[in-house]
Amino acid sequence: MKQDEIFVTQPFLPPLKEFLPYLERIWDSKLVTNCGPFHQEFEQAVCAHLGVEHIALFTNGTIALVTALQSLRISGEVITTPFSFVATSHSLLWNGIRPTFVDIDPETLNLDPAQIEAAITPHTTAILPVHCYGRPCDTRAIQQIADTYNLKVIYDAAHAFGTRDDGGSILRHGDLSVLSFHATKVFNTFEGGAIVCPDARTKTRVDHLKNFGIVSEVNVVAPGINGKMSEFNAALGLLQLNHMDRMMAGRKRVHDAYLTHLAGVRGIRCLNPADEAGFNHAYFPILVGDEYPMSRDRLYQELKNNGIHPRRYFHPLISDFPMYRGLPSANPANLPVATDAARRILCLPIYPDLDIAEVARISRLVADPARCPANA
Ligand SMILES: *Cc1c(COP(=O)(O)O)cnc(C)c1O
Repeated sequence: MKQDEIFVTQPFLPPLKEFLPYLERIWDSKLVTNCGPFHQEFEQAVCAHLGVEHIALFTNGTIALVTALQSLRISGEVITTPFSFVATSHSLLWNGIRPTFVDIDPETLNLDPAQIEAAITPHTTAILPVHCYGRPCDTRAIQQIADTYNLKVIYDAAHAFGTRDDGGSILRHGDLSVLSFHATKVFNTFEGGAIVCPDARTKTRVDHLKNFGIVSEVNVVAPGINGKMSEFNAALGLLQLNHMDRMMAGRKRVHDAYLTHLAGVRGIRCLNPADEAGFNHAYFPILVGDEYPMSRDRLYQELKNNGIHPRRYFHPLISDFPMYRGLPSANPANLPVATDAARRILCLPIYPDLDIAEVARISRLVADPARCPANA
């Protein structure tokens, strides 16, 4: 029997009939964009949901990252991680900034604070870390370095919707945090993003920048861009928030099932968060060790042969792509932990509606790939 294909993620879609009244409101009002009523309503609702005070909504996370760097007038060199989605570093290039890659911590796969200082030069103006897989960076250590060297900190929080630490939302850290609401993320508006700002003044500046720099009918104060979220996406976000508790519970259920099934599988290390309580279960990464009977790429292929489509997030490293690999900091010798992780990492399927029986089947395949039905 042919089984359904299972992909690494599947966007959560609320019941269509729940969305229709929202669409009717848009059709009736003819307000489709330009920070209309749904934009304002969703902005407030998502602030309340996340426990932060100031959010500016964007058309996607990448434009939000580019704008965040613009808003703080970041230039020169910025320290960042090679172990991320390529948009992290691309946002620097779009601002004419030179990325400096620093290696990651082998436990969290986040930027290693102990290695940041050695990479700082007189041109360094900021640090751009990523809360990889939704697991918090060492925000305290990073802030300490930033304070010492007078650097800004912009968190790429594309994976970190809903993640909390002891003090509340992790989005409160740094000078700005940037979210993505892309279809593949924990919380989605098909396409979308946001900048979390520390105060109203910063949000006002970001709001001007995302709307061409326009402040009034006759006044443009900055070379802004068009980064506004449309009413359609904002309405979808507003509705999606109603389902968040159930979605998060669904993710946790899948996560816990993997942990149970994969415990004790030789050569497989589940990358478990230190603080499970505030975690958003955005991804389920495993590291394939030397004791495992086959390479990560063989396992990846075996799973695909059986209709399971995990992803090698993040392989290749950003620093391996042609527009980055000429940089001195992109040398693999400078990035041994990231280079090793990129060779071993595999993100298994996780999404709220993933059937627990499928999680068991995927786990059995990982535990004993030689006995995959496709190889029988
Ligand atoms: C998805 C993602 C982005 C880009 O967000 P988009 O909304 O797709 O533009 C940036 N950084 C990271 C780490 C991501 O995973």
